Amino acid sequence: MTWRATVLTLFPDMFPGPLGISLAGKALAARLWALDIRDIRNSATDRHRSVDDTPAGGGPGMVLRADVLARAIDATETPPGTPHLLMSPRGRPLTQSRVAELAAGPGPLIVCGRFEGVDQRIIDARGLEEISIGDYVLSGGEIAAIALIDACVRLLPGVMGKAESGEDESFSHGLLEYPQYTRPQEFEGRVIPDILLSGDHAKVAGWRRAEAEALTQARRPDLWAARAIQNPPERKTNG
Ligand code: SAH
Repeated sequence: MTWRATVLTLFPDMFPGPLGISLAGKALAARLWALDIRDIRNSATDRHRSVDDTPAGGGPGMVLRADVLARAIDATETPPGTPHLLMSPRGRPLTQSRVAELAAGPGPLIVCGRFEGVDQRIIDARGLEEISIGDYVLSGGEIAAIALIDACVRLLPGVMGKAESGEDESFSHGLLEYPQYTRPQEFEGRVIPDILLSGDHAKVAGWRRAEAEALTQARRPDLWAARAIQNPPERKTNG
């Protein structure tokens, strides 16, 4: 079964967008994954095809209606076990490990919010998992959905050139990636570290490891601390 992302949006023209280009786009054309875009407005029922209304309790903006979203979700057939996601700044921040889980499954159904967001009752009634792509507010869930799908697609079998190129990257071992270099050997007086040109694979690996650890400690004390909890130093046992 092909991995499929199903996206419910008020702006279907935003897709495939960047997902139609380069790695993800080639894989889409090669049918290594599928993209199913549904216009939420097709699930509106009134004469004006309205999808939103003013917030109960007052305040600025508009809120996406629960009944319209429910019809859109319920009209979408998805395989059993399909995660139902809502892109949302209130959600749990997306991590590489959640991305890997999503890539290993059948592919998600993703609801893109707009305006002030969606009626809470659709989140509760359909058990939507809220996922954030960072602590800032976008104008809609589409760019967040594209980011999530892109991160998943590059992990699908056959999408990335070398099978191993996903293994060593930032976050995959709880570390940021070591610095990369390529030709020319000298650029504006800066040279590639000698060790990378030494041909000594063990030394290169050791250097990369040390650089990755130093970068992670300096830039992401949160990741460094989480890693220490996951990989506690080995304890000596008596006897
Ligand atoms: N009033 C809301 C923000 C609404 S932004 C609040 O303060 O929480 C409109 C839509 O953009 C949201 O419903 C969501 O789908 C999307 N969105 C905005 N920022 C996002 C983020 N950081 N991650 C994921 N989705 C986001």
